[in-house]
Amino acid sequence: MTVDQVLLVSVFVLSPVVAAALVFIVAPYGRHVRAGWGPMIPARAGWILMELPSLVVFLVAGGWRAPVPAALWCLHYGHRALIYPFRARGRPMPIAIVAMGASFNLVNGWLNGRAVGDVWLWAGAAVFLVGFATNFHADTVLMGLRRPGQQGYTIPEGGLYRWVSCPNYLGELVEWCGWALLTGTWAGLAFAVFTAANLAPRALANHRWYQATFPDYPRARRALIPWLW
Ligand code: NDP
Repeated sequence: MTVDQVLLVSVFVLSPVVAAALVFIVAPYGRHVRAGWGPMIPARAGWILMELPSLVVFLVAGGWRAPVPAALWCLHYGHRALIYPFRARGRPMPIAIVAMGASFNLVNGWLNGRAVGDVWLWAGAAVFLVGFATNFHADTVLMGLRRPGQQGYTIPEGGLYRWVSCPNYLGELVEWCGWALLTGTWAGLAFAVFTAANLAPRALANHRWYQATFPDYPRARRALIPWLW
């Protein structure tokens, strides 16, 4: 087996392990941050350090050879690494979380940059863009809930928040399913599977946290999938 194949199989194998682990150990950042996870770093620096490797490694690995997928990858990671950190008003996060996220992003950016080719489907690009818009809108609603310097939480309303607690995660998941369809690669599919493994348990944890924190939390709202879950 080549190194790339070992990395790819590792992402598939790790996905259910990570999902199971995250059900029991909620990742300690944001509303779930707690003591015992080592030194912290401001959210802005954390997000840049965590997400920039994806952008750089994808291009270094040759992802630029497929213009449409490369443009969408750069749209997502250019935003996530260089724009989102300056818009969001999140609390500091453990360096351990940043290190884990950056490690995954290095491997994932490499695998996707190597795998992506000339064959792509417009339908996948459309799904990706719908996911990106959903994620962007949902994150923008959250940003509007705090004034500069505030760190408290309120109930988000509007858009897909009518139906789910975490439409930003739903959008993210739709994006990477679109990516898998767009690229038609195992690396793309592995990323979509890992995103679900990572975000589904966190959506449930956030949903339960909202229900426990706000007695008037809308009863019909689900965690991640409208009307279902
Ligand atoms: P959250 O929804 O937990 O938080 C997003 C931002 O909004 C944070 O700055 C948070 O502050 C703030 N916030 C959240 N809820 C409220 C509220 N009720 N009232 C006021 N402020 C609020 O998202 P994450 O931080 O987990 O993720 C951020 C982005 O990164 C999302 O778009 C997500 O999809 C993406 N992501 C993608 C992953 C992947 O696997 N591809 C993995 C993880 C994230 P604070 O930090 O203080 O809680």
